Amino acid sequence: MKKIKLITFDLDDTFWDINPVIISAERSTRDFLEGYIGKQEWGSMSDFLIFRKKLIETDPSFEWDIKGLRRAIYQKKILEAGYSQENSEELVNKCYKFFLKKRHEVTFYKNVFEAVEELSTSYSLGVLTNGNADINHFGIGKHFDFSISSYDVKSNKPEKGHFIAAKNKYDNLEYDEIIHIGDHPINDVKGALDLGINAIWFNGSNENWEEESIKEPLQFDDWSKITKLIESNYE
Ligand SMILES: [Mg+2]
Repeated sequence: MKKIKLITFDLDDTFWDINPVIISAERSTRDFLEGYIGKQEWGSMSDFLIFRKKLIETDPSFEWDIKGLRRAIYQKKILEAGYSQENSEELVNKCYKFFLKKRHEVTFYKNVFEAVEELSTSYSLGVLTNGNADINHFGIGKHFDFSISSYDVKSNKPEKGHFIAAKNKYDNLEYDEIIHIGDHPINDVKGALDLGINAIWFNGSNENWEEESIKEPLQFDDWSKITKLIESNYE
């Protein structure tokens, strides 16, 4: 057994349930924007996804630049409402700022704070997220050495960028001295294992492990269990 030095964490659906937060942030940002440009036709979710796909085709960086993607969506609406390119910028900024504030109105899962605080006394901690939440927005931010987003590494987990960047934060750190914890079987578990990083699956709703090509990983469903799980499986 190798001694663990660093633990990295996913954020969305690992520390909090993201779906209701994004839906609510989306809705209220639309209302906010309509306050400036009047009622808009936003279409269905599938219209939105087609629109998003088209934007990614015009600029592949939107695949990992969700801030840019979101700004482009607001900008399109604002331009369609008759604003000039130049005059649209300020309103795009306002909308994005509004969205980002709402996007941080999350409810942490039970016992996350206690677990992070406890783990921080024995290990270095970091964040690896495909999203755009900022852990420093919250009190527990002080326990983390770093946070790496898709924008930082120009790729999304399960690609290697986040994991390599985390290892490179330290001198002489080996991949097998890291544990990555996340909810996603591919993005988090497979992504970590591909590099020889230890992976622990946050399985909050007690799902079955469906990835047949990957051995079922260590898992937990409540953050009160994580410290013991790590202590009993790693040095
Ligand atoms: Mg996640």
